[in-house]
Amino acid sequence: MPLCRSIRDDVLIWPFNPDGVYTVKSGYRFLHEEQCRKQPGSSEVEVLKPLWNKIWGLHIPNKIKHLAWKACKIALRTKLNLVRRKIITDGCCDMCKTQQEDVVHALFLCPNLRPLWSTMPKWNHGTLMACTSFIDIFDYIFASNRDPDLFAAVIWTLWTRRNNLRLGKPALPLNKVTEFARERLTEAVTSTPLPSYPAQHIAATWIAPGTHSYKLKFNGATFAEMILLE
Ligand SMILES: [Zn+2]
Repeated sequence: MPLCRSIRDDVLIWPFNPDGVYTVKSGYRFLHEEQCRKQPGSSEVEVLKPLWNKIWGLHIPNKIKHLAWKACKIALRTKLNLVRRKIITDGCCDMCKTQQEDVVHALFLCPNLRPLWSTMPKWNHGTLMACTSFIDIFDYIFASNRDPDLFAAVIWTLWTRRNNLRLGKPALPLNKVTEFARERLTEAVTSTPLPSYPAQHIAATWIAPGTHSYKLKFNGATFAEMILLE
């Protein structure tokens, strides 16, 4: 890996926020995740597996299950995700042009979607509106049995609509979204085999080399997660 040839001042970067700036919220999240990681049996796999099973148990087409799971895994090509991958530099939502477009914003919290959600009392709920991830949103919807089948179909329809708007294609009017989503529920549920739950990643640990030997360290990456991006 080539080294930078210019002289630059060192800067402090907080790696757990996309913009590199520390916030109390991101610090709290980091500590919470660290604590969960240290507890035996509470890895991401163990934590998410019940939700995975519930989503795959829904009576909806598999394409909608995939979308719901990608929303939970923050694996959709939202503008913020594209910024993180350094594909674009501006993560601002195209619809409201006021906030960063993460997955919860794009599908649930964008002010431009209020006319839709405000007509849905079962989902226009304070607890749901305070959620910061689709893991929390789906957890609550399943726990309180707020029609998870239709909810998943609605967010699938909103994501399709959002992509069409971005591409300048004809897009469904917002007041037709629920009706369109309801129709998707009547589509035959395909018999595509369910994918297996992602294997647990085992964190690598550094081991000191023996005496009189050197160990080269370099960064690498695999992109299994990026395959999930759509
Ligand atoms: Zn927005």
